[in-house]
Amino acid sequence: MSEKIYDVSAEWARRAWVDDAKYREMYARSVSDPNGFWGEQAKRIGWIKPFHKVENTSFAPGNISIKWFEDGVLNVAWNCIDRHLEKRGDQTAIIWEGDDPSQSKHITYRQLHDEVCKMANILRTRNVGKGDRVTIYLPMIPEAAYAMLACARIGAIHSVVFAGFSPDSLAQRITDCQSKIIITADEGLRGGKKVPLKANVDAAIAKAGDVDWVVVVKHTGAAVDMNPSRDFWHHEAAEMVTTECPCEPMHAEDPLFILYTSGSTGQPKGVLHTTGGYLVFASMTHQYVFDYHDGDIYWCTADVGWVTGHSYIVYGPLANGATTLMFEGVPNYPDNSRFWNVIDKHKVNIFYTAPTAIRALMQGGDAPVKKTSRKSLRLLGSVGEPINPEAWEWYYRVVGEERCPIVDTWWQTETGGILITPLPGATRLKPGSATRPFFGVVPEIVDADGKVLEGECSGNLCIAKSWPGQMRTVYGDHARFEQTYFSTYKGKYFTGDGCRRDADGFYWITGRVDDVINVSGHRMGTAEVESSLVAHALVSEAAVVGYPHDIKGQGIYAYVTLMTGTEPSEALRKELVAWVRKDIGPIASPDLIQFAPGLPKTRSGKIMRRILRKIAEDEPSSLGDTSTLADPAVVDDLVAHRQNKK
Ligand code: ATP
Ligand code: MG
Repeated sequence: MSEKIYDVSAEWARRAWVDDAKYREMYARSVSDPNGFWGEQAKRIGWIKPFHKVENTSFAPGNISIKWFEDGVLNVAWNCIDRHLEKRGDQTAIIWEGDDPSQSKHITYRQLHDEVCKMANILRTRNVGKGDRVTIYLPMIPEAAYAMLACARIGAIHSVVFAGFSPDSLAQRITDCQSKIIITADEGLRGGKKVPLKANVDAAIAKAGDVDWVVVVKHTGAAVDMNPSRDFWHHEAAEMVTTECPCEPMHAEDPLFILYTSGSTGQPKGVLHTTGGYLVFASMTHQYVFDYHDGDIYWCTADVGWVTGHSYIVYGPLANGATTLMFEGVPNYPDNSRFWNVIDKHKVNIFYTAPTAIRALMQGGDAPVKKTSRKSLRLLGSVGEPINPEAWEWYYRVVGEERCPIVDTWWQTETGGILITPLPGATRLKPGSATRPFFGVVPEIVDADGKVLEGECSGNLCIAKSWPGQMRTVYGDHARFEQTYFSTYKGKYFTGDGCRRDADGFYWITGRVDDVINVSGHRMGTAEVESSLVAHALVSEAAVVGYPHDIKGQGIYAYVTLMTGTEPSEALRKELVAWVRKDIGPIASPDLIQFAPGLPKTRSGKIMRRILRKIAEDEPSSLGDTSTLADPAVVDDLVAHRQNKK
């Protein structure tokens, strides 16, 4: 693993909200006096009725119960919009950048207010009220944010389903939460390609049944089938309602949204987040992790269909009165300079993306980056997977010109917000490490028997105490919540991720625990072997899984995608084996390498290792559900060229 350390610059330490001394002081207080600490922090948002009780949580077996600020009353939409109107009515709340580079617009807080109220009134006139579930299946257009905030305004619970999901995946999610209304668009646009959203909704309803209303946003203008007793146009309905809509007073523990996890590891779960704690946590992490100051232009490239889009495009930034950029397109359309051109066009200061995008762009070399200015950039962020040091260095050197710290933020749909991360004015950076816990977060590394390990160690990552942004339950299935997260290690939240803590107390996420490979009794994280492979100049991406091996127990099977223009060969195969052997040690050298033109990824860009495991085990007939893959076709190639055919 990388040994490099980057110190905090004096300028960053001075201008940031938090420097190292302040981090230590605040962190110590956050764990020694959580009630005092969070009670004060919660004042960052506005309450209709103040809370008197701060934390009321239990991780005890049979009694998993998580409540924060429970007797407080508030409204999330009011916090994200109305309270800013006086001071920031004319400030841009959302910059929208379309898939087509000639399309963009600015939406002020005042306009946001009016659009959200109209959407909320449309829902109200269809009898949607507090506690009702609303499915949102929209592309990355401002209406997605309007719809989410409209639900929050009237107390309805939204379930945003990523617009790349198939009709089957959508149907499954509509059925699970029994939503009676769906908000969609005629079509989506991604990389110049049209996505038939309305047609997908029709197909999903044919499966799920029992939907009363479909609101259709006109986006591309394509002709779509409208069922007159069920479907109606958003722009027509918007003409019939006013731009005033009172905010529903919500208890802190009333649900805000359901979000189905991406499904990298199997059947999706309806992660439920509530109102008060979630908003406090999203807002606070957004401010400190991205060191957000008034006037900054902030861009998170995630889709609103993922939790990152919920917490760090919509709720966190808007709660802070920020200007948040929403991007409809993809990193390589019309070309590989798109991200950097958007940064220059809108003078973006803070940029937050995923390792999968960084690796893909790295594959295209430095030129598409270097022909842009990026002078406005001050801070870079990463989320979604471990970022291998090679990609980190490229992001730092080429994109950030060694001037922008990188915050490698570890968190999950379940955690609501960032839990382990550097703070740019406080934390030294080590490429590949998510570094230190955020305020109030108590990570523990345990061994297979649940024994808490001290000091330098590696094992399974748990969180010992609750934090306000924590999920409250699996929607409609509290037993599954306890079973999934609290039964492996009693009394702790189990993240499912493996982790190493180094001598400085920094945390390194090593990948999912299910993915740990056991070679001749040595346990190895997949991230380490992958990082080593990707560090080779000809390798663009790698995924490593275990497969049954007669002698070693498990062997290492590596799928390797080469840089554009590089041809696979036996010589290269041998070279890569030798490379890993020299880099990590003989124990880590791959037994089998398959050159793969593409890897199976979820729509959020994560590698679906369960599929790779099945192929490596020579069981191509039991791959399971592949419908949520971004490109199901890559699987056929992988199966055809598998290296372990019996
Ligand atoms: P599912 O739970 O349905 O299988 P998922 O885990 O991919 O899907 P998310 O909640 O979006 O859904 O992802 C959280 C996971 O992503 C973490 O548990 C971790 O494995 C990985 N992850 C996220 N950020 C980082 C990071 N900065 N470093 C390392 N891993 C990360
Ligand atoms: Mg997960």
